[in-house]
Amino acid sequence: MLPTQQGSFRLFCVKGIDVHVHWSWFLVAVYSVSGRLPNYTSPIWAVLEYLTLFLAVLLHEFGHVLACRHVGGIANQIVLWPLGGVAYVAPPPRPGATLWSIAAGPLVNVVLLPVFVGLFYACRAAGALEGNPDLAHFLRAIIVMNVSLLVFNLLPVYPLDGGQILRSLLWYPLGRARSLKTAALIGLVGGAGLVALAVWWESLWTGLMAGFLLFQCWGSFRQAGALRQLEQLPRRPDFTCRVCHASPPIGAYWVCPACKGAFDPFATAAVCPHCQTALALTTCVDCGNARPHRSWDASIVDV
Ligand SMILES: [Zn+2]
Ligand SMILES: [Zn+2]
Ligand SMILES: [Zn+2]
Repeated sequence: MLPTQQGSFRLFCVKGIDVHVHWSWFLVAVYSVSGRLPNYTSPIWAVLEYLTLFLAVLLHEFGHVLACRHVGGIANQIVLWPLGGVAYVAPPPRPGATLWSIAAGPLVNVVLLPVFVGLFYACRAAGALEGNPDLAHFLRAIIVMNVSLLVFNLLPVYPLDGGQILRSLLWYPLGRARSLKTAALIGLVGGAGLVALAVWWESLWTGLMAGFLLFQCWGSFRQAGALRQLEQLPRRPDFTCRVCHASPPIGAYWVCPACKGAFDPFATAAVCPHCQTALALTTCVDCGNARPHRSWDASIVDV
């Protein structure tokens, strides 16, 4: 759903988390730094302000990744591109796990806020701001920037964090598919509102962002329809996925890796009826995790 890794390069890797930066970030960096230059007497402060923004976005994304791993999900990539950062997270498809993986990002900005505010007051109490307008402006700017990041991310427009938090909360009463559909619909309305704001503010950046969000929302709306169909398939209660606890649907929804024929591994003990190849792993249609076939047997407790 998200920006491709094409055109981005690996900045560093920590604990198996790859951090990629899209080349266009450098254009944005030059633009942002030059826009900040008039606020300072030395360009170093403008660079420092921009680097702090970069760091705040990066920490926000690490919040998503670490929380997702904490609940047993898969997360190993962060891409920074002009419309912000993106953490590729695949939490187990449960509302609580999804909620924590999403909420942890904005929570990082909530934690950063008293740090930045404390820094401002500490410097002021020490008298460091007197005769140093650059430092005073820098400290105020990073507070405003962090609050802006927080407020923007919490807009209830799917797939922004706020929209995804709303979706996770709706998941409890509405289920996986209907919560996604509802959040995507609210997102489409919110996206249209952002388009109106972009016209009013004559802001190209807001317009691009609104267009991107609307595109994503529409994709999620359609995905909700496919999820709904998946939910309504008859299931085999004798088997369950170890990761998401869903039972597999009855029917030929799996493809043999050897002959590409469709079959139902739960009807044939994971042996392809067309070419007799035994599947090493059986993939969950609900969460995408591939597990040894034996581990699906609901009567076996630990595997
Ligand atoms: Zn986020
Ligand atoms: Zn599963
Ligand atoms: Zn086969």
